[in-house]
Amino acid sequence: MKTLWCIIIFLFIPFQSFAAAPNDLYDQRMELYKKAEAISLIPWYYFAAVDQYERSIRQARRDLPKPTGVIGIYIPPERWAGPLNQNKEDQNPFTISQFGGIGIDGNGDGIADRTNDEDVLFAFARFLRSYGTDHTHIKMALWDYYERSKTVDIILGKVKLYKHFGTLQLDQYAFPIPRRFEYSYRSTWGDARGWGGRRIHEGTDIFAHYGTPVRSTCYGIVELKGWNKYGGWRIGIRDINNTYHYFAHLNGFANGLEEGTIVEPGMLIGSVGSSGYGPPGTSGKFPPHLHYGMYKDNGYTEWSFDPYPYLKQWERQERMKKR
Ligand SMILES: [Zn+2]
Repeated sequence: MKTLWCIIIFLFIPFQSFAAAPNDLYDQRMELYKKAEAISLIPWYYFAAVDQYERSIRQARRDLPKPTGVIGIYIPPERWAGPLNQNKEDQNPFTISQFGGIGIDGNGDGIADRTNDEDVLFAFARFLRSYGTDHTHIKMALWDYYERSKTVDIILGKVKLYKHFGTLQLDQYAFPIPRRFEYSYRSTWGDARGWGGRRIHEGTDIFAHYGTPVRSTCYGIVELKGWNKYGGWRIGIRDINNTYHYFAHLNGFANGLEEGTIVEPGMLIGSVGSSGYGPPGTSGKFPPHLHYGMYKDNGYTEWSFDPYPYLKQWERQERMKKR
C-alpha cells in the first residue's frame, strides 16, 4: 500500500510543478524587467507595460500565437530577422543585424531566438534605448513601433499604473455597487434598444435608486469623462488587460476624478442617475440605473462583450470575502 501511494504521489508531483504559481510568475517577470532596466537605463515599468499590452493582445487575437513564456511580447519574424532577410527564421545575431532586424542574443547562448524571454525582452529594450531613455523619446519609439496612437496611449496608461502601485499584481476586481445598497440586474447584453436607431444593448443595466454610489470595478486609468447623448454623464476606465469599463447614465462624478486619474477596485467614481437620451443635462427619460459595459481592444479595433458573467463573479467574490 505504501509503495502504491509513493507511485501516486510521484505521478502527481511533476505535473503540478509545471504550472508556476501566479506569484512566482510575477516575480520572474519583475526580475527580467529589472534586468532590462539595468541594461538599458529605462525604468522597469515601461517593459512591464509593453509586455502586459502584448500579452493581452495575444489572448484576444486568433492570428497570433498564444504566449508560452514568462514574457508576452511577440515580435513578428520579419521584424526580428529584418525586412529584407530571406531567412525569416534567422537566429544568427550577425546576419540579423546586417538586415536591420531587431533580434539579438540577450542571454549569451549565441542564438537570437524570438521565443526566448531574455532575447525578446532585451531586443525590445535595445530598440527603445536607441531613441533615448526619457519619457518623450520612449513615447516616440512606441509610436514608431506600433503606428497607432490608441496603442501608445494604452501602454502609457499601464506605465502610469505600474509606476504608481509598484507591483505587477493589478488584476483584482470589484462589483460597481456597494453591497449594502439595493440594486437588481439581469442579463440583457445584445438586446435591441429603443433609442438611437439600430443598436444592440452593449452592456448590463443595474437598476438602483438615484444617488447610489458607483465604484470602479478595476485598477485602471480614467480614459474618458463627460457627456454623450446616449450615455449621458459617463466614465470610461481602461484596466491592465486592455479592457475598457464603461459606466453610463450617471447622476454625477466623484470629486477630483479627471481623464488620466488612477483608480482602484471599489473606489468611488460617481453615482447612479438617469442622464442621457438628449443634449447635455437631459435626465429622467427612463428609470435610474447604471449602464455598465465592457470592451476589449485587440490592437486594431475594439468590441463589446457581455459583462454579465463578470458582474456575477465579482458579486460572488465580495459575498465570500464579507462572510
Ligand atoms: Zn444599458
